[in-house]
Amino acid sequence: SRRFFVGGNFKMNLVVNSVTSIVTNLNTAQLDPSTEVVIAPPSLYLLLVRQLADSKIGVAAQNVFDKPNGAFTGELSVEQLRDAHIDWTIIGHSERRVVLKEDDDFVARKTKAAIDGGLSVILCIGESLDEREAERTIEIVTRQLNAVAECLSKNQWTKVVIAYEPIWAIGTGKVATTAQAQEAHAAIRKWLAEKISSESAENTRVIYGGSVSDGNCKDLAKQPDVDGFLVGGASLKPAFVDIVNSRI
Ligand code: 13P
Repeated sequence: SRRFFVGGNFKMNLVVNSVTSIVTNLNTAQLDPSTEVVIAPPSLYLLLVRQLADSKIGVAAQNVFDKPNGAFTGELSVEQLRDAHIDWTIIGHSERRVVLKEDDDFVARKTKAAIDGGLSVILCIGESLDEREAERTIEIVTRQLNAVAECLSKNQWTKVVIAYEPIWAIGTGKVATTAQAQEAHAAIRKWLAEKISSESAENTRVIYGGSVSDGNCKDLAKQPDVDGFLVGGASLKPAFVDIVNSRI
């Protein structure tokens, strides 16, 4: 059975004082021990957060570069993250795909570099509002996943958590319905079964992101193919603890 996974994506928020208080609050909160919790602060605070956070809390970068080192101003390498005891990275968030113009191929190369270098990856996929209205959701997430499958060996999927984040639900307060989330997650699991392996379909966590709150998390968490959440705005608030504890 798949361990419930809740990620907190802090995005470009917080300063030293506020990130410190969020992490120290999480350290003392009653977190369901059966939930895997991973928080992703801005890169500037990765070392601080890894130092402050209890060892049961995982820490993720929000991005990583695909080259090992060199003249790549502004980027961070897999080796640098590993050296800082950061075990996870988010890759392919829609804000990077849309605002920073990252394409499927770049996302795939970064995923391969991260896993080859020993990181685990929260791989974000999801459709725009136009794509959903044109009933192209499954086509879009399949295209995004196929690009990554071309780069990874089948056994490397054990290092991936797939985050289904419909762009129209991110930061909008417009959460996917339980039926919409379940349908997309089931399609992603079917893709895993057909393209990777039945073991991978059985074991890979597929988590939902997009306006998750303490109010809507419990119903979503009951869906058979929803294995957790990637939380943006609510990860900055006390509500994050309730989302971690969705299944209790
Ligand atoms: P919100 O929870 O703020 O909608 O953001 C979701 C998200 O993008 C997490 O990566």
